[in-house]
Amino acid sequence: MALKYSSKINKIRSFAFWLIFVGIGVMYIGLIFKETTWLMALFMILGVGFVGLSTVVYFWIGMLSTKTIQIVCPSCEKPTKMLGRVDACMHCNQPLTLDKSLEGKEFDEKYNSKRYKKGKAPQES
Ligand SMILES: [Zn+2]
Repeated sequence: MALKYSSKINKIRSFAFWLIFVGIGVMYIGLIFKETTWLMALFMILGVGFVGLSTVVYFWIGMLSTKTIQIVCPSCEKPTKMLGRVDACMHCNQPLTLDKSLEGKEFDEKYNSKRYKKGKAPQES
């Protein structure tokens, strides 16, 4: 299996980054329909919506960042942030885990899911 994992925060950040581009792109398409006011307005609103959504996602990253755990990556020895029980290094994408019982196991995003946590110490968040 050659699945490539990247840090969750990096993933969300690039998602927010692309949302801005999509938003601007959609607004640009709106300019093509300058003659049709309602169509242009529709694209403009949609574009603003994407950019607005991106702002929300950026805000969300800020919130998530307060919940991350700062560790030093054992692979590249740079400080990185971890989100959840398993995550990947922000610099070299080395899979990381905080849970000793998962150490050495195949890196799997499912270890972060709520279903997997069920039955273990319930966590209020
Ligand atoms: Zn690393």
